[in-house]
Amino acid sequence: MTDNRLILTATNPESVPLHETGGVSGLIQALQENDFIGSAVDPRSAYLFNSGVKIMNCISLVGCSPVYALNQNPGDDPAGLVSFSPVYDDVQFIYGTNSLTPKCPECRESINTWRQSLPAPLQACNTVQHKIKCDHCEKMIGLDSLRFRREAAIGRFFIFVHGIYPHEGVPMDAFLDRLGQYMGSPVTYLYCQGK
Ligand SMILES: [Zn+2]
Repeated sequence: MTDNRLILTATNPESVPLHETGGVSGLIQALQENDFIGSAVDPRSAYLFNSGVKIMNCISLVGCSPVYALNQNPGDDPAGLVSFSPVYDDVQFIYGTNSLTPKCPECRESINTWRQSLPAPLQACNTVQHKIKCDHCEKMIGLDSLRFRREAAIGRFFIFVHGIYPHEGVPMDAFLDRLGQYMGSPVTYLYCQGK
């Protein structure tokens, strides 16, 4: 089973949903009013929602055979779901099985051992506590100094749209702008896959 996620996060890694717009609950309420998300999957958990009926007004599908499943069948890959991370105290790093080997910012060589000391794909990893060692120059490298294209996320708050394969769904500019109003920073998007 693969969990294919489109991840939305602020370009400023320190940005979290603004107090002035109601914080995370204000953001969730606005996304519900837009029908980007629907009802909570489990009323006891306020962070996992069914996709809303108008989610495709905010994300355009691209690729040769794009499909976005709105309905979830037990045993399928997670799809048709939107979830929200906690607001973390420290900046977190999230990568996927699709993340390509990054280059060392010190010596420019590929850091082939970069995953060895990290938690599993899709698990948030504290950038303050975790550093990786370059297998060429042996310098300790901060996760927030690694460069990925759209294959890893850095931030303190993330929105996950489950069921979108890498590069098969692109958030529309107007939607990103609107999210930015709640985050106090421009919002970007990327793709991570995991189990
Ligand atoms: Zn190096």
